[in-house]
Amino acid sequence: MSRYPDSVDVAIVGSGPAGATYARILTEEAPGVTVAMFEVGPTVSDPPGAHVRNIDDAEARAEAQRRSEGPGAGAATVSSPGAVKSGERRARAGTYLLPDGFQADGEDGMPVAAFSSNVGGMAAHWTGACPRPLGSERIPFLPDLDELLDEGDRLLGVTTDAFDAAPFTALVRERLAAAVDEGRVDETRVQRMPLAVHRRDDGRLVWSGSDVVLGDVTRGNPSFSLFDESLVMRVLIEDGRAVGVAVRDLRSGETHEVRARRVVVAADALRTPQVLWASGVRPAALGRMLNDQTQVVYGARLRDVEPPAEDQLPASGALSEQSGVSWVPFTDALPFHGQVMQLDASPVPLADDDPVVPGSIVGLGLFCAKDLQWDDRVEFSDTERDSYGMPAMRLHYTLTDRDRAVLDRAQEEIVAMARAVGEPIGDRPFTMPLGASLHYQGTTRMGEADDGLSVCSPDSEVWGVRGLSVAGNGLIPTATACNPTLTSVALAVRGARRLARELAYVENRHYDVGTKQKESRRTP
Ligand code: FAD
Repeated sequence: MSRYPDSVDVAIVGSGPAGATYARILTEEAPGVTVAMFEVGPTVSDPPGAHVRNIDDAEARAEAQRRSEGPGAGAATVSSPGAVKSGERRARAGTYLLPDGFQADGEDGMPVAAFSSNVGGMAAHWTGACPRPLGSERIPFLPDLDELLDEGDRLLGVTTDAFDAAPFTALVRERLAAAVDEGRVDETRVQRMPLAVHRRDDGRLVWSGSDVVLGDVTRGNPSFSLFDESLVMRVLIEDGRAVGVAVRDLRSGETHEVRARRVVVAADALRTPQVLWASGVRPAALGRMLNDQTQVVYGARLRDVEPPAEDQLPASGALSEQSGVSWVPFTDALPFHGQVMQLDASPVPLADDDPVVPGSIVGLGLFCAKDLQWDDRVEFSDTERDSYGMPAMRLHYTLTDRDRAVLDRAQEEIVAMARAVGEPIGDRPFTMPLGASLHYQGTTRMGEADDGLSVCSPDSEVWGVRGLSVAGNGLIPTATACNPTLTSVALAVRGARRLARELAYVENRHYDVGTKQKESRRTP
């Protein structure tokens, strides 16, 4: 017996924040529309999609991370101090690396390109930084971008005051501001990092994952179903139109077809093009303009700080809440974006001299915008398969001279920032292996027109295939340095509203091209 329905209105592939946005907006704006979400990974948290950092018990948290690591489960991660600088290829906990095909001869490649396979996707493991794109990061052909970003803030539960009581947070901001604010306008001055986190009444921090995007309203929607351990192998295409998905139930090993009026593929920036490729949807721009944000990191010990009182110290294993998260926004003149946070939340290894004032060491990270190139790409094989049986991927990726110049500038800037907040740890900043930012973009890029340089329309519909939409960081067509999830959710809001309007129209008029069977069932 299949656990899947024979047909639904909308099939969503992937349960990260991008896919969850479609489920939420459809629930709110087109009630009654049936939605099935398919996720290849298992459910690892409660409610489904919740951030694993909200799991109190350290062992249960580690188990949830391990179960998110798909075929890479159990491999050593960068969690241990010193691991980042060891030069080994390691993934962040909750993620796993592309095992091969990450670097072609003579290219830089993306040695630590990574994935998460679990309900909630990478957002069950993320840092939750949700800055807005600025200047050239913004998508110029979306006049409603700010309103969409506002909606993204709502869905992700973004706040800016969660760390206001942290004793060193204002100090860090003041010191950074003194070093970088000169000549900047209000929106690009040092400020609190918008974060997808809220503080409960009992004072506890709760990090947002897809559970927050879905919300009680979607979980309570009888027309919404989430199927975990379900691999969508391909989108069914008939006469140039998406009409459903072929899905393998990883519990039974059986494959089923689920018919759908609309299909949304939100399977991350490397696997969304993989699903399209496997479905025979192969526009010229598919997988092209792959970009990531090269990341420079450094640590600094805060100068002149008093140890916090006993009652401010974190419980064992919990994040210390001393210096919060500060944001140094992107500018076109300095095309990188800074995230400055207490070290136990950052990937920089801890200083070895103990004892340190908890939270007194901050990690500084600068993400650099990429010089976009057509030839930076993910390619798929027609003959080789990955461990899920999907077309094997191979990455082509190279930094340009301009990228290296930006990187040099970012290294200088991060040293100045580290010196401003305190005493730098180590003699120089460290450039993370490529792929480390986990912010892959561009592979299903959005365009204003079907000119061969983009994969989807401003409403996220794949050019030339009716009923097929894409979602996630792969849609972002600009060279961003800011963390991309808020922008992806904003783009998904636009696409989902469009679907909601179309399906509501269909509901009213009992008319939809190509899905006559469904319509006749609805006609009174
Ligand atoms: P994902 O969250 O990756 O979800 C895609 C889902 O699709 C996955 O669950 C996957 O298993 C599923 N899937 C793939 N293929 C198939 C298939 N064929 N069938 C069924 N399911 C499939 N971003 C920020 O903006 N700010 C941050 O501070 C930040 N910090 C991060 C820190 C860490 C440690 C990590 C891991 C990520 C971080 N990110 C951050 C990145 C952020 O998590 C991603 O941008 C975001 O999760 C992307 O959402 P998505 O829905 O597009 O993809």
